[in-house]
Order: sequence, then C-alpha cells, then structure tokens
Amino acid sequence: SDFMTMARRYESTAAASDSSGAPVEKYEYQAEVSRLMDLIVNSLYSNKEVFLRELISNASDALDKLRFLSVTQPELSKDSVDLDIRIQTDKDNGIITIMDTGIGMTRQELVDCLGTIAQSGTAKFLKALKDSKDAGADNNLIGQFGVGFYSAFLVSDKVAVATKSPKSDKQYVWEGEANASTYTIREETDPEKLLPRGTRITLYLKRDDKAFAHPERVQKLVKNYSQFVSFPIYTWQEKG
Ligand code: ADP
Ligand code: MG
Repeated sequence: SDFMTMARRYESTAAASDSSGAPVEKYEYQAEVSRLMDLIVNSLYSNKEVFLRELISNASDALDKLRFLSVTQPELSKDSVDLDIRIQTDKDNGIITIMDTGIGMTRQELVDCLGTIAQSGTAKFLKALKDSKDAGADNNLIGQFGVGFYSAFLVSDKVAVATKSPKSDKQYVWEGEANASTYTIREETDPEKLLPRGTRITLYLKRDDKAFAHPERVQKLVKNYSQFVSFPIYTWQEKG
C-alpha cells in the first residue's frame, strides 16, 4: 500500500547509508529556511497548485542557464540531450516527477540553493512576514511573493531532488521532509537512476493532496504555465 511504501522510504532516509553503502549526509537548514518551511507546511494557503508553476519556472531557468553557458562552453551540452521539461504523474501512489535537462546542481550548489535563502524574492517574503503582525497575513504573503522551490512542501510530505551538473562527474540526491529541520544529500549510486544531465524532482504528495497527481489536473496546469516557457513540456503518466 501507499502507506507501507512511504514508511519504508522514511526508514531509509533515517539510516546513515543507503542500501549500497554510500554515505547519507545530514545538513541543518539555515534558520530562515526552517521558518519558511514551517510556515509553508503549516499554512492553510489555498492556492497550493502554485508549486507546479514554481518548479516549472526553476526547470526553465536551469535550461536557460545551460543554453547561455553553452555558447562559450560548448562542451556543456556535448551529449546532444534535448532541452526540455518532462512531468510524470503516478496517481496511484500520489507521486509527481518534474525532470529537466538543464544546468543541474553540484553538491555545494545543492547546499547553497536548497538549504539557505539565496534568492531575493524569498528574503523579501521573510521581511514582509516579520513586519506583519497580522496572523492571517501569511497566506496573502505566500501568494504575493511566491516561495520558490519550497512551495513543493505545500503539497508534499517528502521531496527528492536528483541532480547532475556538467561541472561534476557525480549525481547527487537531496531529500527533505515536511516538518524536519534537516535534509540529506547522498551520491547516486544506482546506475539506473543516473540522469544524462539536469534535475529530477520527485514529490511524494501529502495524503490530502494526492489528487494533484491526476494527469488531467497536471496537464491543465501545465497548459496555463507553458505559454511563459520557451522549452517543450511533456507530460505522461505511469502505466496503471
Ligand atoms: P529562485 O528561482 O527565485 O532563485 P527558488 O527557491 O525557486 O528561487 O530556487 C532556488 C535555487 O535553486 C535556484 O536559484 C537554482 O539555483 C536552484 N534550483 C532550483 N531548481 C533547480 C533546477 N531544476 N535546476 C537547477 N537548479 C535549480
Ligand atoms: Mg524559482
């Protein structure tokens, strides 16, 4: 059942090494990220579907970066991999996967980008949050500023980010759970899970948000956002 699968996944995250023996390193979020995560996970924000827009926009940014850098460093895109975004839905298990063939992240970039507040939008969001004493303001602020990558936790119990940068010969997996103050990073050792390049984000949806993994729902949202994205976005579903 779903529950058993989830429970087992949680166990493997807690272990000090994965099944192949590769070390799983634990990191603490920067205090601001913890606050932000707390707010997102516990918010009653109703417009949860923004998570998909945020993740598609990150995928598009990553593809833009790769395309731009390839002009002066053609070796970055030498493996003739198409620049695109692929979104897979598995409605039976409540899982959405968003994959791009963009610039990816090194281990250090994972720590810098997904463990600290690097981006100005989120910093402004936190400032506005600090300034507002009104408890109900949180929800408006999420909508007003957008909370980037962390919006994945509006709908997910757990998020896994597998990523391969052309600057590194290794692929890494970042994993974070809602209501946790730490995240983990490990090297990918399963050859079947290696990406040619880019990033694959897996969302393990919350019990009450599993309907987001319905292909029709995802396709409808993608259709709305794709007009702002200059790369093809493909959607497909896990065979039942
Ligand atoms: P922003 O997009 O405004 O910078 P986000 O919270 O959405 O903020 O993302 C934080 C950072 O994480 C990005 O700036 C980028 O460096 C990195 N990142 C997120 N998603 C991806 C991705 N799909 N590929 C490469 N890097 C990514
Ligand atoms: Mg973003």
